[in-house]
Amino acid sequence: MDKPLTGGCACGAVRYELKSPPFDAGWCHCRTCQRNSGAPAMVFASVPAGHLVWTRGADLIRAFASSGFGHRSFCGACGTPFLMEVDHQPETVDFSVATLDDPAAAAPGFHIFWGSRIPWFEPKDDLPRHEKFRPDTRGLAGTEPPE
Ligand SMILES: [Zn+2]
Ligand SMILES: [Zn+2]
Repeated sequence: MDKPLTGGCACGAVRYELKSPPFDAGWCHCRTCQRNSGAPAMVFASVPAGHLVWTRGADLIRAFASSGFGHRSFCGACGTPFLMEVDHQPETVDFSVATLDDPAAAAPGFHIFWGSRIPWFEPKDDLPRHEKFRPDTRGLAGTEPPE
């Protein structure tokens, strides 16, 4: 990357920088994303573990177990959701794309958990739609609940 992508939360207390370009950006319509964001769906993208570096407010980051196999991190001051880390994918972290200063830099390429989509939310794109996880999800080993 010429210039590292940067991002931050709504209150501005937490800032981060990406050490490599994000990949696997996609919409997630699971109930956890809906509750966590207060929105019908979230867009996450991945970077290798350690490649999202807090540049301000690291001490404000809080986390909660969002399932039996993962947790989510957010700004403890304003609640902006940042990260989803999944036990069976320790080599990557997923971050919420909308927190980038330039969210256009990581366009989603698919939908997951389409099965729990809120019916009035109807994206008009022609991206692949998966009822739950993508069939090729890394390390999935038959896990069922959303992240
Ligand atoms: Zn904040
Ligand atoms: Zn989700």
